Amino acid sequence: MSSSAPILVVGGGPAGSTVATLLAQRGYTVFLFEQAKFPRDHIGESLLPATLATLELSGALDAVRRAGFVEKAGATMVWGKETEPWTWYFRETNTRFPYSYQVNRPEFDQLLLQHAGEVGVQIHEQTRVDEVIFDSGRAIGVRIQDEPIEGSFVVDATGQSCLISSKLQGRNWDEDFVNLAIYNYFSGANHLIGDDRGNILIESVPNGWLWKIPLKNNVSSVGLVADRDSTVKAIRRTNTEHVFATAREESKIVRDLLSGSHCNSRSIVTRDWSYQSNRFAGCGWVSVGDAACFIDPLFSTGVHLAVSGAFLAAALVDTSLSDVGLVAEATQSYEGLYRQQYEHFRELTSLFYSGNRTVDSYFWESRRITNHENYAPREAFIRTVSGQNVAGYERSVLHHAATPDKFDEELRKFDVGLNRRRVELNNANLLESTVVCIAGVKVASSVVLDGARFSRSKVIRGEDRVDLAVSDFVAEVVQYCAVPRTVSSLVQQMTVTSQSSKIVEMVTSTIGLLVIDGILELVGSSTNN
Ligand SMILES: Cc1cc2nc3c(=O)[nH]c(=O)nc-3n(C[C@H](O)[C@H](O)[C@H](O)COP(=O)(O)OP(=O)(O)OC[C@H]3O[C@@H](n4cnc5c(N)ncnc54)[C@H](O)[C@@H]3O)c2cc1C
Repeated sequence: MSSSAPILVVGGGPAGSTVATLLAQRGYTVFLFEQAKFPRDHIGESLLPATLATLELSGALDAVRRAGFVEKAGATMVWGKETEPWTWYFRETNTRFPYSYQVNRPEFDQLLLQHAGEVGVQIHEQTRVDEVIFDSGRAIGVRIQDEPIEGSFVVDATGQSCLISSKLQGRNWDEDFVNLAIYNYFSGANHLIGDDRGNILIESVPNGWLWKIPLKNNVSSVGLVADRDSTVKAIRRTNTEHVFATAREESKIVRDLLSGSHCNSRSIVTRDWSYQSNRFAGCGWVSVGDAACFIDPLFSTGVHLAVSGAFLAAALVDTSLSDVGLVAEATQSYEGLYRQQYEHFRELTSLFYSGNRTVDSYFWESRRITNHENYAPREAFIRTVSGQNVAGYERSVLHHAATPDKFDEELRKFDVGLNRRRVELNNANLLESTVVCIAGVKVASSVVLDGARFSRSKVIRGEDRVDLAVSDFVAEVVQYCAVPRTVSSLVQQMTVTSQSSKIVEMVTSTIGLLVIDGILELVGSSTNN
């Protein structure tokens, strides 16, 4: 392998075109191989606002805006404790991008690929990569029709084909989400009204749930997600169209909106079985998008994971090619950050499935989470969710679900702890108070994402916490508080090491944030009154 050889990206979906774009923009020579001729059909039309932030970074957002896709204000659901539809809006939690888009995937994917070409990626469509070539465990290139092509790094963005993991590392299939989907496109359907007109509609039915996504040109994408095994049997007994039509008939809102619409093509059946590849990256290679992991589409997270993963993957490739000393830890960090996002969505999806009480059947019963489950591994998720006000995205949707008592109890415990810490802080005369690190929390050194690359940084580490990268100043505060310290002694200590004239303000506001976040605790505080 030569470091001047091109970076080889396999797959031209959202993950592949975004990672290729980001790397070409950093001056690398990038070849992208795509087996299809674009535009090509693809499922997955409903986007999240966070995707737009990454597309803005890659420079593709303007083209997406100009394409005239349907604006999506949020999601309307018939799901959870109530039988009536309810809606959550992106504007409740996202001020920068208070909306997203419902995209026609053939056109959207082509726009992203064209943009990659415009920034200098050499695109080879109708070029199938047969295998990744390894030498002593390191990816050194790819093979296309018996022809080896040398690369400095290989990016596997082949979607559910999982070029590398299907051959080498294997996949970990998720037994909790063994679903399939049947979908089709309907013309002339009605839509939700008012602000909800562009929303995705998700409606639970006895054997699964339906989506209806309004696309441009008055076409709607409509699909059923259902249990794989029982649906395959039902299809064998009858046929695909019958199974799909029955589910639509069993719905209330989707059925009404589709009345008078028409559909001229055969419905498509596709696998919807969640998985994580056993490894996301290795020596000279990285997997991204569905090639790394796939989660059930309930929260429309696939394209978001693909493009945010592409941002991480570009950072990993860039770091690996420019700072050999960081490769091993950056690889670990990449995988950790990616899995963390995945697990978060998995947790949310799993709780939400389990919390549907609007319909009952084997499908829903088999997806219940019992109250005997151990919630300790879910602490990171509970921590994120409990930190939000009730309008927070996850909090807002879970509010409508009948979540297990044990989960609610854990959430309440966090809320109570958080409120207690806030009240203590408000009442405390901080300069006269004593603080100490929570047991098990410490400062460590780790390789973290720092802007568009990985770099070494101080992190705060603790059991069931995700590593938190912090400045040297914050790290020093935490280290100093390994034993109980008065805040005034901390100010004196920091005055020695910092030149800032605002040291009292810096120390007290840092302590405040660390106490709220459960990293430090107040022990012996003198009150304000
Ligand atoms: C039923 C269902 C509904 C979904 N709904 C949504 C939704 O509403 N919103 C959402 O965000 N996500 C949704 N998703 C998920 C979404 O479709 C994917 O997560 C997303 O497309 C992943 O992008 P990607 O770039 O990783 O892969 P892909 O978009 O699949 O792109 C991979 C590309 O690699 C190419 N390729 C494969 N093998 C090779 C090879 N050997 N050589 C060269 N090229 C190759 C393929 O032709 C393809 O173009 C849904 C998924 C399913 C199954």
